[in-house]
Amino acid sequence: MKAYLDHAATTPLRPEARQAMLAWLGESFGNPSGSHRVARAARDAVDEARQVVADCLGCDAGEVVFTAGGTESDNLAVLGRAPHGRVLCSAIEHDAVIESVHSVGGEQVGVDPAGVIDLDALAGALGPDVALVSVMLANNEIGVLQPLDAVCAAVRRRCPEAAVHTDAVQAVAWVDVARLAGRADLVSVSAHKFGGPQGVGALVHRAGSGRKGPAPLLDPVLFGGGQERSRRSGTHNVAGIVGMAAAMRATVETRATTVARVGDLRDRLADGLLARIPGATETGERGAKVAGSCHLRFEGVESEALVLLLDSMGLCASAGSACASGATEPSHVLTALGLDRTDARSALRLSLGWCSTDADVDAALDIVPAAVEQLRATARIGA
Ligand code: PLP
Repeated sequence: MKAYLDHAATTPLRPEARQAMLAWLGESFGNPSGSHRVARAARDAVDEARQVVADCLGCDAGEVVFTAGGTESDNLAVLGRAPHGRVLCSAIEHDAVIESVHSVGGEQVGVDPAGVIDLDALAGALGPDVALVSVMLANNEIGVLQPLDAVCAAVRRRCPEAAVHTDAVQAVAWVDVARLAGRADLVSVSAHKFGGPQGVGALVHRAGSGRKGPAPLLDPVLFGGGQERSRRSGTHNVAGIVGMAAAMRATVETRATTVARVGDLRDRLADGLLARIPGATETGERGAKVAGSCHLRFEGVESEALVLLLDSMGLCASAGSACASGATEPSHVLTALGLDRTDARSALRLSLGWCSTDADVDAALDIVPAAVEQLRATARIGA
């Protein structure tokens, strides 16, 4: 492999996370719900991790609900609120939100051509029967950040009983989620997007975020032993939880320098490809995106063919979200921006992360133009 530019799909494990996990994959093994010393040691480790996650996300430890990842956190937020009224989400949410909302008969609110939620349309859709509004902090395909404060203000004004959920899965690595999502009642995160292990995440379930009354009622989706104050039953993934906390702490402590460094790499990558490849277009406003996101479209090129060719040339990239990869339908995010199907099918997502280097960018600047030219030449011969 010459370069890995698919950090939005998953990131390599940070050494801090690996180190924190090792004990819990070896000599330490307790079930935190038990009462003897082995169990208590595991509970202490989970409690310590809970405090780290709470400090990083700007909430109280008791407001952190550990889950098995971003998909579960999103499902818990949507399905846990759906029994209390209508649910709404933006049209560019991850499928974990879109499909949950769809399953309970909820509605979508459109975005503008830059990928930012249409606040007028949102205001029009709000009403006293709304129980949840879900608007992601950073989009997983195009990297655009959403004006969450304005969303919270609109929801508080029109339906003060409703909860605001934000999927911050793609945001933790790049922005201060404690500040930007500080007014949201429910916040989803997933460890493997910021150097933690796969299969572990959290949902912040916050009281006192400007909403009327206590924390919004959240009906459980998983029933059983009553862990996480009955909000999420199931034995804790102790190794995963301590790994997530270590990765989150390292991410937050180094975020400012990582954002500056990786932002420069991303700019060099995007500018270089736009200059080298005729008929290339950047999706969204660069200044409104997270630092690791580079999303381009190449006229006359089909995404899936490009991703396969790039892989054969040593570059790992993606056509869109990890889950949409391999699908023949164009991404719902790109069609929500108003792109036609052909344009939406010509996208390439190059996503950088905490360990991306100049060498990754150099490799991509060599490989992507060659691959695009090869596909265009083949199309010309076939025409
Ligand atoms: N939400 C967003 C924005 C994502 O990008 C992803 C994963 O790609 C998820 C949710 C799902 O997270 P997980 O892979 O932890 O289930």
